[in-house]
Amino acid sequence: MTTRVLYVEDNDQNYYLVKFILEAQGYEVVRARDGREGIELARTVDPALILLDIQLPVMDGYETARELRTIPGLAPVPVVALTSYAMAGDREKALAAGCTGYIEKPIDPTTFSGEIAAHLARSRSGGGSG
Ligand code: MN
Repeated sequence: MTTRVLYVEDNDQNYYLVKFILEAQGYEVVRARDGREGIELARTVDPALILLDIQLPVMDGYETARELRTIPGLAPVPVVALTSYAMAGDREKALAAGCTGYIEKPIDPTTFSGEIAAHLARSRSGGGSG
C-alpha cells in the first residue's frame, strides 16, 4: 500500500524537490497550494502525513495547523511544519499551533525522506501527543 503524503506548499520549486525525493522512496504526494485547500484535501485524501509550509497565501501554516487539529479524524496524522532556518521562533510557533514536528528549510535531500519516515514511525507506534 502506498503511503500518501499531503504537502501544502505554494512554491513550485520546493514542491517539486520534495515530490521528487518522496516519490523516489515510494511515497505518493498530493499537493495543496494554500491552507484552505490543504484542509479540504486533508479531509478527503486520507493522508498518512501532512507536510505544511508556514508562509502560505490565504491562511498561514500556523492557522492551518490549528484548524487541522480541530478535525477529529486527523488526530493521529502527523503534521510536520517546514520552517525557515532564518525565522527564529518558527519552530516553537509551529509546535504551539499543533504541529507534530518540524523540518528546517532549505531541506537536506540526503536526510529528508529519513525524517519523514521517522515521523511516520512515531505516529504508528502511538507516541501520544507530546
Ligand atoms: Mn511558502
